Amino acid sequence: MASKSPDLMERIVSLCKRRGFVFQSSEIYGGFNSCYDYGPLGAELKRNVKNAWWQAMVTGREDIVGLDSAIIQHPAIWQASGHLAGFADLLVDCRVCKGRFREDHLEQKGVCPNCGGKGDLTEARAFNLMFKTFAGPVEDASHTVYLRPETAQGIFTNFVNVVNSARMKPPFGIAQIGKSFRNEITPGNFVFRTREFEQMEMEFFIPPGEDDQWYEYWIKQRHEWYVRFGVRAEKLRLRKHDDDELAHYSTGCTDVEYEFPFGWSELEGIAKRGCFDLTQHSEASGKDLSFFDEAKKERYLPHVVEPAAGCDRAAMTFLVDAYDEEKLVDQKSGKEDVRTVLHFHPQIAPTTTAVFPLVKKEGMPEKAKEIQGILQAAGISSFYDQKGAIGRRYRRQDEVGTPWCLTVDGDTLSEGTVTIRDRDSMKQDRCPVADLVEEIRTRVRNWKRE
Ligand code: ATP
Repeated sequence: MASKSPDLMERIVSLCKRRGFVFQSSEIYGGFNSCYDYGPLGAELKRNVKNAWWQAMVTGREDIVGLDSAIIQHPAIWQASGHLAGFADLLVDCRVCKGRFREDHLEQKGVCPNCGGKGDLTEARAFNLMFKTFAGPVEDASHTVYLRPETAQGIFTNFVNVVNSARMKPPFGIAQIGKSFRNEITPGNFVFRTREFEQMEMEFFIPPGEDDQWYEYWIKQRHEWYVRFGVRAEKLRLRKHDDDELAHYSTGCTDVEYEFPFGWSELEGIAKRGCFDLTQHSEASGKDLSFFDEAKKERYLPHVVEPAAGCDRAAMTFLVDAYDEEKLVDQKSGKEDVRTVLHFHPQIAPTTTAVFPLVKKEGMPEKAKEIQGILQAAGISSFYDQKGAIGRRYRRQDEVGTPWCLTVDGDTLSEGTVTIRDRDSMKQDRCPVADLVEEIRTRVRNWKRE
């Protein structure tokens, strides 16, 4: 097993760059602090994370619908939601080293985490985290707009549109995946905290009084989602917020946390928001956002339970948790070797299969390409590689987490079978080409983290 240390994080970051998961953004210009670009494999990984979430939250259920709202919205929304007045971090400055820090991130009150200076920190000041810009050519206060700091408000402001168009009634949810922006003071830990990131949020609207039951339900569902997609349960924990940590509108919040090499940190929060948001937007817009229950002949403002996750944090969790360096001993020579492998769930892995011709002749490349085509046509992603020794080709796929490598050899041509080599066990089996699509689908369904 790979050791858990800060140094481990460096090795993961270096793998991400080398193999095209994540690049430093604007690299040719020297990079831009804490901005990242996802490379070919990272783009697939992130897409798979989003699909897994969307399937669990929207398409796999009857009671949740999707939404894709705008990033730039009416500024009055942020006034009503409380973000203009209250979406701020309390910051302290160090008079000695001039560093600026979040007060709630200080390890010791009054002590600078950078230079260790005592008693030289300023009083905390509020710093609003929303990015400001102007809509249209005039740059004055009346044209100021904000990049959304969360996707949730686009859901609340469309509540009535969705109820009327999709004929939903509580309990039901509206889910959204999209970019959010926060001018974080101390971004860091790779893609864990950045200023531009993607969220996966769902607002679940319920009749008042059902808050606790749905809150417990969603905590359980969201914790199970990470485990279902391969994250080791012992690396996850649920942390209930203390009363003094809660936002003023919230009566309860529980975080799903993961034990990263840099410590336990939040992946997602499940919060009880009461009817705060719909009340605020009803009052500020003058529009009635209540729901009329036909059966009970009752009108009420629904309450909300919200699971809010980060797509980048989830992708990073799957990566970190999948990463392993295994010591292998060669049976014949007794030589030790280290195999770097990503034990991704097959639905999270950037590529599901890789197809190799054993040698670059005797019709094997053509056959391998044909098999790749069959898999791709069946919706199974497949990478073709004919370069280098077969063992090295396996290792290259292990390093990016491809669950199955298929090797085309002489028997493929004469008998119509291929070798399937399993990433986790390294076991090899033969399978008729005719059964390959079904075999891979079965393996995807039955996969379990060792
Ligand atoms: P934190 O305490 O880490 O700043 P938060 O409690 O403010 O996070 P929420 O407002 O609850 O976060 O946002 C929901 C989710 O969005 C978080 O759990 C996280 O996964 C993601 N998220 C929030 N801020 C960032 C960020 N700066 N970079 C990446 N992901 C983020």
